[in-house]
This record gives sequence, C-alpha cells and structure tokens, in this order.
Amino acid sequence: MIDRIAIVGCGPAGLSAAIALHDAGRQVTLFEQFDQPGPVGSGLMLQPTGLAVLERWGLREAAESLGQRIDGMLGRVAPDGKVVLDINYRVLNTKKQPELYGVAIHRAALFDVLFKAVQARDIPIITGKTICASISVPNRKAANGQNQVQLIEQDGAPIEEHFDLAVDASGARSILAQASGLLRKKTQLNYGALWTTVELNDSSFDPHLLEQRYKAASVMVGVLPCGTLPGEHQKLATLFWSIKGADYAAFEAAGLDAWKQQVIEHWPAVETLLEHIEHTNQLTHATYSHHTLSRPYVPGVIFIGDAAHATSPQLGQGANMALLDAMALANAIECADNSVQAATIYAKARRAHVRFFQAASFLLTPFYQSDSYLLPKLRDTLFEPVSKLPMSDKLVTALGSGLLGNPIKTIDKQLARIKRKHIV
Ligand SMILES: Cc1cc2nc3c(=O)[nH]c(=O)nc-3n(C[C@H](O)[C@H](O)[C@H](O)COP(=O)(O)OP(=O)(O)OC[C@H]3O[C@@H](n4cnc5c(N)ncnc54)[C@H](O)[C@@H]3O)c2cc1C
Repeated sequence: MIDRIAIVGCGPAGLSAAIALHDAGRQVTLFEQFDQPGPVGSGLMLQPTGLAVLERWGLREAAESLGQRIDGMLGRVAPDGKVVLDINYRVLNTKKQPELYGVAIHRAALFDVLFKAVQARDIPIITGKTICASISVPNRKAANGQNQVQLIEQDGAPIEEHFDLAVDASGARSILAQASGLLRKKTQLNYGALWTTVELNDSSFDPHLLEQRYKAASVMVGVLPCGTLPGEHQKLATLFWSIKGADYAAFEAAGLDAWKQQVIEHWPAVETLLEHIEHTNQLTHATYSHHTLSRPYVPGVIFIGDAAHATSPQLGQGANMALLDAMALANAIECADNSVQAATIYAKARRAHVRFFQAASFLLTPFYQSDSYLLPKLRDTLFEPVSKLPMSDKLVTALGSGLLGNPIKTIDKQLARIKRKHIV
C-alpha cells in the first residue's frame, strides 16, 4: 500500500499532484526549495485538457473566473499582416462537447487556485528545502519487506520522515531527474523569450484571441489576454518577444527604448501596451530546454511535469501536461499495491500523449523560433491553405489544444480496465 507520499516542488505539477493524491486518501507532504512558494513568469494557456482535469477537482470555475476565455489563435506575418495561422477551438465542438475553448491565466492566478486548494486540504508544505537525492531505506514496519524512500537535501542532510513514494515535480531543471540516468539528451534551445505582463485597456486587441506577429522565424511578438490577478479587477495581457540567448546581452546594452522601437516596427498596435513597461527589469528572460525522460520513474521516485518532459512553450501544453500527469498518477496509485506497479501504470497511461506532444513541439518550434530560412517560408506559404483542407482544421486545432489522442479518455479507460480485471 502506498500511503505516505513526498512531492518535491510547488509548481503546477506538484500542487496538482498533492490535491489529486490527497483526494485519493493518501498522506501527502510537499517540499519546496524557496522559503515562500510562488509562481515565476506571466500568463499561460490552459487548454481544454487542463481545464477538464481542474473540473474534476472542482477548481475549473475558480480558474475561469480569474482567467480569460480564449477562442483561438491568430498568427500574422509582419509587416503586411498576412494570416498564416488561424486556429479556432470551435471547429472541435461536438454534440457531447458543444463549447470548447482555452483559458489564458496569469501564473500567479493559477498558483492561487491550486495553492488555496492545497491549503484547504491541510496538506503540509515544508519550505526552504532543496531536494537533490533520494535513497532507498528499509521499512521495518512492512511485513512484505518493501523499502521506503528518504529524501536528501542539497547540503547532504537527510529529511527525517520516510515515504512509500517520492514524486519529483521540481521542473525542467530537476536535480533528481538529472541524477536518474534517464535523461538521454537535454537540448538547450537557441531561442527563448522576453515575457512581461501589461494592463490591457486597449480595445484594438480581441480579448479572446492569442495573437502573434512573425518575421521569418527570428522575430515573434505575441499578445495573450490573461485575465486578472487574484483580488484585482484590472484586465491583463502577457506580451512576449522571441530572443536568442546569445542576443540577450546586446538587448540589455541597447536599452529599453531601442527594444520598444524594434517591437513597434513589427507590430505598431502594441505601442499602447509597451507604454506600461518602464524598465528592463519588468521583462523576464525565459530560456527553454527540451528533454523527455526515457521512462518517468526510478525505484521509489516518479517524475511528473517538466521534470519528466520539458519543452518550448510554442504549443502551450506544459502546464496542461502537468495536470494530466497528476491525474494519471493519482489513478495509478489508487489501483497499485506498491510503488513499482504505480510507476508502471502511470508511465503507460501517459506514454503516447507525452511522446507525441514532445515530438510535435520539438519539430514545430523551429518554424517559429530559429534561424532557418526555409522553415518560416514553408510556414508562410503552406500552413494557412493546408489548415483549410477538409479535416485538417480539426487536426491542427486538436494539436494546438492538446486533445489529439484524447489523453483524459486514455487515462480513464486504463483505470477502468485495471479495476475491471483487478490485475496490473
Ligand atoms: C515563458 C513560458 C511560457 C509558458 N507558457 C505555457 C502555456 O501557455 N501553457 C502551458 O501549458 N505551459 C506553458 N509553459 C510551460 C509551463 O510553465 C510548465 O510546463 C509548467 O510550469 C511545469 O510545471 P512544473 O510544476 O512541472 O514545474 P515548475 O513550474 O518549474 O515548478 C517546479 C517547482 O519546483 C521547485 N523546485 C525546483 N527544484 C527543486 C528542488 N531541488 N527541491 C525543491 N523544490 C524545487 C521550484 O521552485 C518550483 O516551485 C510556459 C513556460 C514558460 C517558461
């Protein structure tokens, strides 16, 4: 029986796993490196997949009330404004699912929703603990001789309490994942982005659209209306600007006005949004890496979220994948007798979806963020007409919304099958 579970990391993956596992009747303890858990960064897209998971935990309404409904995504080439990407969730509407949409939400707002749910469940959070290793320890109380796991802090100090299982949700830079031997290849992507949150008072932006402007694949400006911060009424938007890691020093040296000029050149309408930025420290420089663990577990530890699979945010799936992982993990633990079985069930439930979206993200990102000459040409010539072909609009939207492969049905079906057969 897996009863006591340690979760490392208080990001979307860790908090949502804590909620799901607590609701499945387990004793959960969260560990976080910072003294005060909190979100870093701007808005993100909750896809229909992530929203459906939140709905199961009774948190969808709270997320939607803070976030902004997004119906689609529009990509245009700068400066002429030719549409090269036009995705609308509506094409996936069915009788069963009559209204599909995404919700853009500020990271602080999503954190608030998940953190409050953790607090309401009295789940202990132990802060100021940087976990960097786990060791297997004998469980003297267990008749079946199953081992437990002990977490070790960065300074070598062991965490006193032993657990039946540890869940690593410590993100793309996970120390446990790096030490696992499962990280075959980690690719640091050349391009990252500058991100900021600005007030959105300008009616020239459609509040229900994620809009982007591109020039080749070296320039990308995006505006994502993302709702409000908890307890506030001001509508916000996340603004992002693609930047190569190697060019960051030049951006700093040139200064804010030079950068603003460059952005306006590609998309004049954003000038009103840029007025809210007075200092470069309002811009967060995000760098992206890409990795998928060859399997998401080692004895005693299961990896979820970015620790298991990190990528660029081009497809807007990372936080949604984290929520799906948490749901699959809780299901796996519910029907497993021990941590080895739980790990196998969890890995199987998530394998196809994770591998597909990781590959899609890796292949598609260079069409939007790279120095390639050919890929953006193909994008600008082919993407829009191809998306108009019968069924391809559905396929493209299913890809953008994370629904391709129906991950929730896969997780549910697996649980039902195991329960039916009473076998693993
Ligand atoms: C700029 C940007 C835009 C994005 N946009 C989107 C989007 O639109 N839609 C989407 O779905 N996803 C998006 N993502 C991806 C998404 O943010 C991540 O996939 C998601 O945050 C992963 O959650 P996580 O909990 O696995 O990791 P994280 O959010 O990184 O959280 C990890 C937590 O673990 C803690 N931690 C780390 N190491 C340790 C340690 N050793 N010991 C203890 N605690 C530790 C950290 O402090 C943190 O609290 C975006 C990402 C970026 C960078």
